[in-house]
Amino acid sequence: MSDCIFCKIAAGEIPSRKVYEDGELIAFHDVNPVAPVHFMIVPKEHIDSLESCHARHELLLGRILLLVPVLAKEQGLNDGFKTVINTGKGGGQVVFHLHVHVIGGGKLSHV
Ligand code: C5P
Repeated sequence: MSDCIFCKIAAGEIPSRKVYEDGELIAFHDVNPVAPVHFMIVPKEHIDSLESCHARHELLLGRILLLVPVLAKEQGLNDGFKTVINTGKGGGQVVFHLHVHVIGGGKLSHV
């Protein structure tokens, strides 16, 4: 999607503080962190949200979730972390390109 900011980050057209990258996924620090460590894992394929996922995304979603604890540890989150997927306007989603927030290193709200 030509006007999608995360597609542009994934394509390297907009700079980001990258945490991880492979052929399918990119992870980068949130520009507006809500905790000492706050990064996002994003599929390079444009998918609007979790609601737009289909059975063919099963492997991709599994890869994202399995990557979460690996990157969290690499970022020094040895005491746990929060994983958030905002979905749709009512779910607080602002960027309509699927992403998983990984947050930690400070006092976090319960949910
Ligand atoms: O899940 P939601 O859509 O609400 O979050 C989008 C996130 O993307 C925000 O936390 C915002 O700070 C982040 N963002 C970013 N880099 C951009 C644009 C947005 O890290 N260039």
